[in-house]
Formats: sequence, structure tokens, C-alpha cells
Amino acid sequence: MLEIDDIHVNYGRLQALRGVSLTVAEGEVVCLVGPNGAGKSTTLAAIAGGVTPHAGGIKLQGRGLIGMAPEAISRLGVSLVPEGRHVFASLTVAENLRIGGFQRRDRSGAAADFERILSHFPRLRERLQQPAGQLSGGEQQMLVIGRALMTKPRLVMVDEPSLGLAPLIVDQVYEILLSLRQSEGLTLLINEQSSKRVLKFADRIYVLRGGRIQLHDRASNLQDGKAIMEAYFGFGEHPAPAAGSVALGGVAR
Ligand code: ATP
Repeated sequence: MLEIDDIHVNYGRLQALRGVSLTVAEGEVVCLVGPNGAGKSTTLAAIAGGVTPHAGGIKLQGRGLIGMAPEAISRLGVSLVPEGRHVFASLTVAENLRIGGFQRRDRSGAAADFERILSHFPRLRERLQQPAGQLSGGEQQMLVIGRALMTKPRLVMVDEPSLGLAPLIVDQVYEILLSLRQSEGLTLLINEQSSKRVLKFADRIYVLRGGRIQLHDRASNLQDGKAIMEAYFGFGEHPAPAAGSVALGGVAR
């Protein structure tokens, strides 16, 4: 479905992506894992049209995306759930969801999707008329995912869904994402800092560090976590960090 070929992105003189290649097949759950500043958000932004690579290619079902406007990419079925759970705090849950579908021309389809999406998120249905700013962090994460689904996407990209959420809530968010993959036929590309979580939920994993893919493989081949640790921290290139700093880095979460 998605093919990224050797993309390079700079912010001024800073080289954020230095040749990133990855693929996502239809129906897959692919996770991009890496430390702060690795380039994960930039990779998703490049796919969604928010930043423009100065070299390389991005294709969605064979169609080149570089240079297309974000709205046009969204119309092709790509939806990005950005980091940080940006809800419209003073609008109700229902209004937040409907905003997701405002670009759609098929009004009756959007209304049907509104109902179907709520069936995946019973907590949102209970709070439909409540201002979104009053929701818990986990509920807000569900709301931004629900809002993304209102665009009728085929590829959903979620940037760090677990940031700042309790582990139990994070598991619930992932379980909903996986059940949506089945019931809605979605393809998922998810950014994460915690390699433990991606080992549990991903089909395939890419480790990004310093703007480069350091490792990629099926999650089933990486279950002991050792290769991911090495790629994540760059062991072998630099002295290994002390045990305490490994946990702080996020892999042990
Ligand atoms: P995080 O988990 O902290 O969001 P990340 O892996 O998503 O990290 P990016 O946000 O893609 O990484 O950042 C990659 C590099 O680009 C970092 O050095 C970051 O400081 C820099 N960067 C990101 N966005 C911008 C921007 N708009 N302008 C300048 N530099 C940026």
C-alpha cells in the first residue's frame, strides 16, 4: 500500500531524515519505534504532506505523494492522528467527531459512519454532548482516533498514542486500534517510543534513530528485544548506557 524510498528531510540545516525507506502492506500494523528526535513524527508528516522531502519518493498504491497538498493526500484515504491528542476542547464530543467528516460529500455515508464509529467507542457515546476538554486523556485519544476514522481512511497513522497515558489505558487504545484493523479493514502505521508495546501489537517493526532506519523485521523475529535495544541505542557504535539510563530511554517501559 505504502512505499517510502530513501526520503531526506531537512529543517533548515538540521537533517531530520537521512534516507528513510519503509513499506506498509494493506492490512498490516507497522510500528516505527525510536527515541526522542529520531525522526518518527517527521516521517509521518512527510507521508501526510505536512513536510516535503527534498529527495526520495513516497507512493501510495503506486501513486506519488510528494508535492501533493495535505487535503489531497487525505482524500486518497490517508489520515494522520498527530501526537498530543488535539481535541477542540470547548466543542462537544459529537461536534469533534463530525468535524472529521466535514470534507466528505457523501452526507448519508458520514452519518452512518458516525454511528458505526461510536459502536467501537462506547465511552464516547456516553459523553456525546459533553465538551471534549472534560474527557480523560484516554478518552481524548479515542476521540482523535474516532475523528480520524470519520475521513473514511484506508491508512491510519497514529503518532505516539501512548504518550502520557497509564499502561492499562494504552493497552485499551491498542486493542481498539487492532479491532478496527479487522472490522474496518484498516492499515496502521504507528509511532511509538516503547519497544515493549510494539513487540506486543505490531506485525512489523522499524527502528529509527538519528534520521535513519537502523533495523526492520517482523515483530515475531524480535521478541527477545535484544536487537531492538541495540538499534534503538546504537550499542556497538558507542559505549552502552548504564542500566538506569536504559529504563529512562523508554525501551523498558
Ligand atoms: P519525538 O518523539 O520527540 O516527537 P520524533 O522521533 O518524532 O521525536 P521528530 O519530531 O521527527 O522526531 O524530530 C526529528 C528532528 O527534527 C529533531 O531533531 C527535532 O528537533 C527536529 N524538528 C522536528 N520538527 C521540527 C521543526 N518544525 N523545525 C525544526 N526542527 C524540527
